[in-house]
Amino acid sequence: MHSETLQRLIRPQVAGLPVYDPGADPAAVMRQYGVSRVIKLSNNENPLGMSPKAARAIEQCLAHGLGRYPDPAGKALCLALAERHDLPPENIILGNGSENILELLCQAYLNPGDRVVTQTPCFGLHEIFPAMMGARLTKVAPAPAFGCDLDGWRTALQEPLKLLLISQPSNPVGTALNRDELHAIVQACPADCLLVIDEAYYEYAVSDPDYPDALQVLRQQQRPWIVLRTFSKAHGLASLRVGYGLASHASLVEALHRVRTPYNVNQLAQAAALAALDDSEHLQRSVTLVTGERDRVSSALRTAGYQVASSLANFLFIETDTAASVTVQRLLRSGVIVKAWREPQFLRFIRMSLALPADNDQFLHALTAAD
Ligand SMILES: *Cc1c(COP(=O)(O)O)cnc(C)c1O
Repeated sequence: MHSETLQRLIRPQVAGLPVYDPGADPAAVMRQYGVSRVIKLSNNENPLGMSPKAARAIEQCLAHGLGRYPDPAGKALCLALAERHDLPPENIILGNGSENILELLCQAYLNPGDRVVTQTPCFGLHEIFPAMMGARLTKVAPAPAFGCDLDGWRTALQEPLKLLLISQPSNPVGTALNRDELHAIVQACPADCLLVIDEAYYEYAVSDPDYPDALQVLRQQQRPWIVLRTFSKAHGLASLRVGYGLASHASLVEALHRVRTPYNVNQLAQAAALAALDDSEHLQRSVTLVTGERDRVSSALRTAGYQVASSLANFLFIETDTAASVTVQRLLRSGVIVKAWREPQFLRFIRMSLALPADNDQFLHALTAAD
């Protein structure tokens, strides 16, 4: 078949889609730059890895064999989450990562031409999945120093929209709306819109007195909403792909079940997540490590003259004095992988995931060393 024919067969929304940037591959960096050790600070992973309890749960799965399909409903995990969050299990959905739930939300709810409002800078998939459905995206810019521009939100929310998508704390910035700001945005949002709050970094933020637990704020609302959380970040299960949504209505979740593949969360992921949920000690250790390093590395960067956004997550968004792509190349030569931001207005920013102290020090050293 001619490639032009193939091109015509592709949905126009897909042909124009940006490609998700997963960051550099450590093995490729080793080969290309001839470095023997690479530290990957580009994907916001937990440097302590997964809970030992989750590892034991996986070993048990292996002992029983993996020849059968997993529970398509993930009942045990849904029940545990239902109990923890005081919601009916029918209001909870599991996903192959919370990314999968973002995708299901777009597939189930967005028609071509529907409007989606989100913030800028924004997580790549918050843009890609709506675009995949042919939705139009409005991005609200931050106030100076990454504050919340409430007037900007109110203006964006005046016109009809289908979906409001907020990452809280924000990826890539790490800042979060405070209770009043979140409340004001929810109030400004038309009641016939679906509110999606992506709390992928919730566990790192929740102890901050200004951080509003979206579930607590939204519970009071009659409108449709869903809060997304994940086991990939603070729980350290990124490789297994398991996230969940906590929703206002069982019918909201039911629409997502119709569009998902029946066995989207595998057996290992279900078992490990259930065990991880029970390992508060590992979670606490992970969060304590990151929050301590967050303060230490932010201070060191500010002392060195860099602008760093105040982060409630496990990463820092740092303004450099040149194009971020140049800085990223320079760091790669030292075996350090960070992410260059690609959105206009933010092309001098890099995002760095907080890791073990020695790795963070290697990053600081590589960044601040002269060329
Ligand atoms: C990492 C991240 C996710 C994806 O998490 P998975 O559960 O691994 O799919 C979702 N949203 C945001 C904002 C993230 O940064």
